[in-house]
Amino acid sequence: MKRKYLISLSISILVLAGGIVQIADAQNRTVLNEAQRISGDQFTLVTRTPKGAYVYALKQPSAEMLAAIDRGLGSLFEVARKNRYRSRLNYRDYTIYIAKADREKDASGAYSPDIAVGAAQYTGTGYDKGGYIYAAGIVVALNPCAFMIAEHTKDLDRVADAVRYEGEHLVLYHNDRSRYLTTADHSKGGGHPILQ
Ligand SMILES: [Zn+2]
Repeated sequence: MKRKYLISLSISILVLAGGIVQIADAQNRTVLNEAQRISGDQFTLVTRTPKGAYVYALKQPSAEMLAAIDRGLGSLFEVARKNRYRSRLNYRDYTIYIAKADREKDASGAYSPDIAVGAAQYTGTGYDKGGYIYAAGIVVALNPCAFMIAEHTKDLDRVADAVRYEGEHLVLYHNDRSRYLTTADHSKGGGHPILQ
């Protein structure tokens, strides 16, 4: 009798675990679709950084690129803890999409791989380049935490900065919703870093 109970309990735990995995898969697919819609890229490669963040890319990212992502998340978590935030401070909480850059250089000719995204609320502002803006990074989903940056072959500190900066929006969303709301839209002024 006892044994039978144990078996049915373990089956229900298995079923429950399976259900959670399915929900996570559906969420990940929704986020992936959104990333592909924003970038126009097909992310066929999934990997992890050495510290455990999830990375979607078009081809295997360089070790330097993955290390720069970890560096950016590390400094994000550090400044978040300084602000007494506790939620979503694990590398595995983050998914980063590495998209093909839509430009390699900025207007001044400096190396600046960026993603073109629809201008939306930036229409008519200084950022507007004719219906789109160039961004170093963009939040793809708030929950689960996902954002996109452009592939870099050099200036990896710029990658670390972009990761920290996009991550700021996500940390604020999960730890200080009112501060998130007042800092999410840069067309109303304010940039990065938000957290000091
Ligand atoms: Zn921002």
